[in-house]
Amino acid sequence: MAKYAILTSGGDSPGMNCAIRAFTRSMLYQGHKVVGIKRGYSGLLNKDFVNLTASSVGNIIQRGGTILQSSRCLKFHEKKFRKAAAQKLEEEKIKGLCVIGGDGSFKGAYALYNDFKVPVVGIPGTIDNDISGTEYTIGHDTAVQTAVEAVDKIRDTAFSHDRVFLIEVMGRNSSSLALKVGICTGAENVIVPGNEIPYQEIGDKIKKGEERGKKGSILIVAEGGKEGRSYNIQKELQDRFNIQSKVCILGHIQRGGSPSAMDRLIATEMGVLASQSLSHFKEPMVTTYTAGEVGLTSFPQCLTGRSENIEAQIELTRILSI
Ligand code: ADP
Repeated sequence: MAKYAILTSGGDSPGMNCAIRAFTRSMLYQGHKVVGIKRGYSGLLNKDFVNLTASSVGNIIQRGGTILQSSRCLKFHEKKFRKAAAQKLEEEKIKGLCVIGGDGSFKGAYALYNDFKVPVVGIPGTIDNDISGTEYTIGHDTAVQTAVEAVDKIRDTAFSHDRVFLIEVMGRNSSSLALKVGICTGAENVIVPGNEIPYQEIGDKIKKGEERGKKGSILIVAEGGKEGRSYNIQKELQDRFNIQSKVCILGHIQRGGSPSAMDRLIATEMGVLASQSLSHFKEPMVTTYTAGEVGLTSFPQCLTGRSENIEAQIELTRILSI
């Protein structure tokens, strides 16, 4: 019998609890013990540990957020603190660590292995779906659904008052969330990060819509790393085309909520696979979802930055919003 630990780090996402539950129960099933580390790498440095049992991970499969809580821990960027973390794990005779989080959290886990040979496994958990090496990250589906429901409500007002709405969705520098929300809500435009904003095209489309009696328009704006970008876009539309609009920033509403069935399923499969990878450790691996199946890949594959092909989705938005 051996002891393993699990933590959640970075931004929380719906489905993290499903992964904690599955990892824990699968480890117990194999005859091992599991320690939960509170508040990510901060809790590791403070030795904020709790024993996880089959019942302590009961009744959490439907809950958003993470029962272990999460944090951002600047100290973990420094090798001396990662060394302290490795020592704490050794003191507690913990044989390996499972990290649920985004690519930042994975960099921390991989450094812990590279510098101090701590066996690690990663589970991708972020609403942004912005990790290379996997087509899916836990929480994305739920976040898309939450945003779609919110946009549907706003469209009622956009229609009733002939109004243009700029609705800003989360996703850091990733366009995944914005594009899916745009397609699923029939948005007139999706403004993704990175590219120059095609104001003329946007202005022309809104005007054209108005001319043919269109009642209200919805533009989905990807936040692009910094919340509030929509206010600049609102001003440009006003100054350049005399188009008045309302801004709605969905914000953290998109991070919470009960995970969708898809998130529960994938998180559960990933949790079990992560536990098996760690208990039969050969090298550090990350659980992935590719071509409809859960699998494993190496950490470097997941740290190259998201290479999602968004062109097809951008084209789809263009075709459907004529
Ligand atoms: P996410 O995991 O969602 O991408 P962050 O980028 O904020 O979120 O990373 C979460 C935590 O992971 C950070 O607060 C830090 O403790 C750790 N981390 C991030 N990048 C590194 C790195 N390059 N080296 C070591 N630890 C890191």
